[in-house]
Amino acid sequence: MKRERPDTRHKERPKVRLHIGDEVEVITGKDASKRGRVTEVLRDEQRVRVSGVAMMTKHQRARGRSRAMQSQTGRIQMPGTIHVSNVQLVCGVCGKRTRPRFEVSDAGKQRLCRLCGADISRQHGEE
Ligand SMILES: [Zn+2]
Repeated sequence: MKRERPDTRHKERPKVRLHIGDEVEVITGKDASKRGRVTEVLRDEQRVRVSGVAMMTKHQRARGRSRAMQSQTGRIQMPGTIHVSNVQLVCGVCGKRTRPRFEVSDAGKQRLCRLCGADISRQHGEE
């Protein structure tokens, strides 16, 4: 049950600029236009796990060799990972998805919404 193509191996590795807690929107694939929060960032693979997105059901049967595997049976719903190029950050201020721009100031690095100019460095945590 492999839905993801393992062909996205680029030579250059752009940095993953998403963080846990960021709100993102899926821009391509079967979950396109779905939004969710980043729950995990896999920087080496440039993939993220987003709540409620790319859900997959794991069927676990009691056929594992180890006792730990045998005790985990049934169907487990969990979000799969999605490549960072398939999601885009959502600005918490204007609510649109945006490609942020970065500015370095005395306060540190800021992530700014290209559309409304809001600082979305720390958009999570206060709602
Ligand atoms: Zn904005």
